[in-house]
Amino acid sequence: MSRFWSDVVKGLTPYVPGEQPKLANLVKLNTNENPYDPSPRALEAIRAATGESLKLYPDPNAEQLKIAIGKYHGIEARNVFVGNGSDEVLAHVFLALLKHQRPILFPDISYSFYPVYCGLYQVAFETVPLAADFSIRVADYAKPNGGIVFPNPNAPTGCLVPLADIEGLLRSNPDSVVVIDEAYVDFGGESAIPLIARYPNLLVVQTLSKSRSLAGLRVGFAAGQADLIEALERVKNSFNSYPLDRLAIAGAVAAYEDRDYFEQTCRAVIASREKLVAEMQALGFEVLPSAANFIFVRHPRRAAQETALALRQRGIIVRHFKAPRIEQFLRITVGTDAQCAALVSALREILGNR
Ligand SMILES: *Cc1c(COP(=O)(O)O)cnc(C)c1O
Repeated sequence: MSRFWSDVVKGLTPYVPGEQPKLANLVKLNTNENPYDPSPRALEAIRAATGESLKLYPDPNAEQLKIAIGKYHGIEARNVFVGNGSDEVLAHVFLALLKHQRPILFPDISYSFYPVYCGLYQVAFETVPLAADFSIRVADYAKPNGGIVFPNPNAPTGCLVPLADIEGLLRSNPDSVVVIDEAYVDFGGESAIPLIARYPNLLVVQTLSKSRSLAGLRVGFAAGQADLIEALERVKNSFNSYPLDRLAIAGAVAAYEDRDYFEQTCRAVIASREKLVAEMQALGFEVLPSAANFIFVRHPRRAAQETALALRQRGIIVRHFKAPRIEQFLRITVGTDAQCAALVSALREILGNR
């Protein structure tokens, strides 16, 4: 704290990202990155973009990328907003579409950046408890609100809300924006993007960080009807005209064009997840049903924090949240089969049932 700080800064509680340790040879299963490399075509496009043209500003509208995303999802470029990671997109969403008189609603156990944006932009919110089985019940959101936001599949649980329930939520909230954060949808969910044509109150947010292995490039987008997109453009153009640099635009466009590579790596992650779930259950863990590239697990006889520490001593890092209801859980990113095998063998050793 310093006398130079503004009152706004004094009141902030920033988000704490999972750690990015500098140590080599770690099995890093704590931040839901993809274990597979980015598409070789994306890397090639990024290399090709590192020329003299970097002296020029990028396209402020990233039109080429909007077209590529639109083409992939069967929507128009005017229905797409792009940003420097979906976190930035979400930040603009909170200011542009969720800041109203009434509090917005999101689950009590969810992406912990949502309350942070509420703090930054002074958006009132109420949390809605997950059901006892840690699922999101859309019926619990039937109350007056200034908007609704949740990840689908949810984070850190991995649980998926069926598209039919999302549609019910859109119908029962015609006067507020429903934001579906689909950071993990490619690992087992069905995107709500096709619903935007029919629901003016739907905004879908996605990222290239997880399923397209480009967390380091920082690209995310929102899809919705043109007036929702225009609200986001107004905020963006009052904040930073060029959130996506030339390398990001080139790499992201090529990633969307390489559909085969994307589908192949998603399938590999899903197959590894299914195998890992069975092995974790065999070790006595309870595993919540996951449609994501991570699993959320608890052991009936082992304290999660101690297990995380014991794994860490063996060079494996997973995520533990010291939060009510979930302090006995660990969130574990699905790695390659080799990384999953290292995890399982370390756990077998820690649990002492070799
Ligand atoms: C990872 C994640 C994001 C943010 O992704 P970016 O890297 O900022 O694009 C957004 N929402 C959820 C739920 C996430 O897990």
